[in-house]
Amino acid sequence: MERINHFRFYAKETFGRRVQKIPVALPFTCPNIDGTKGRGGCIYCYRGSRPEHLSSRTSLRKQIEEGIRRGRERYGRKTLFFVYFQSYTNTYGELDTLKELYNTATEYEEVVGLDVGTRPDCAPDEVLELLSSYRDRGYEVWIEFGLQSANFETLKRINRAHGVSDLVDAVLRAKRHGLKVCVHTIVGLPGEGREDYLETARLLSALAVEGIKIHPVYVMRNTALAKLFLTGEFRTLSLEEYARYTADMLELIHPETVVHRLTAEAKKPALISPDYCTYERKLEVINRIERELERRGSHQGARREACLNVKGT
Ligand code: SF4
Repeated sequence: MERINHFRFYAKETFGRRVQKIPVALPFTCPNIDGTKGRGGCIYCYRGSRPEHLSSRTSLRKQIEEGIRRGRERYGRKTLFFVYFQSYTNTYGELDTLKELYNTATEYEEVVGLDVGTRPDCAPDEVLELLSSYRDRGYEVWIEFGLQSANFETLKRINRAHGVSDLVDAVLRAKRHGLKVCVHTIVGLPGEGREDYLETARLLSALAVEGIKIHPVYVMRNTALAKLFLTGEFRTLSLEEYARYTADMLELIHPETVVHRLTAEAKKPALISPDYCTYERKLEVINRIERELERRGSHQGARREACLNVKGT
């Protein structure tokens, strides 16, 4: 048995082949930046999480075609793909515009799924219904909600401009539309400790989300978080701390929940800290978490029953 249900295992089992995600960047913005919900964005926001190699000025078709070309070159001709709408808020637009964009992703026979990243307060039923229509056409559709923490005080501190209840509401509605739900969490946010990470994991376990992303907090230049870091008001986690807390969280997450991500990758010099959040050290971080679980003789979901079954406690 694998200790962690990584996305690559799930995809291989579901589609019988390797499935790669093609991240794409579109000229979206975010209600937490444009003033609708807030201004300035989350304190760690750096270009809306757009990968360095992508430009929203490149057409969507070109980004997808380039992603397919690279994926096949690296993983073989038979590789299948999900188009991953990653940066900013990918459900924040007119319905017709969204439809045109999502439709473009389905023009390619190698594409078997859509993966749409957004905020939990930005998922109206009409958009969920639109996404669900692709599922009816045979595509696998994931919607990814950024939560980051189940602690409302933390959400205020990091200027998320939404609450925990928004996440619960969005998850339940997305599930009613038959979508697979993945929730993003961050370990090491200002003011948080182990109990906060465990509470976040418990919430996601109780909501039975189909997927989870966990990554360490990382500090990028020109962000509000960078100011806190550079004045010494906040520090990032060591790799050892991050591996330990992430293992703690994974032990509370259902073994069938798909783990889409366990680290973050950024590039220096924009990345200030920690130094393990780079493309080059990605495998090292994942291996460290696996080793921590191995050291404990543990695995994803190992402590889930204990956390949800309160009988006798
Ligand atoms: S929700 Fe995402 S895009 Fe919007 S401000 Fe926060 S990190 Fe940036």
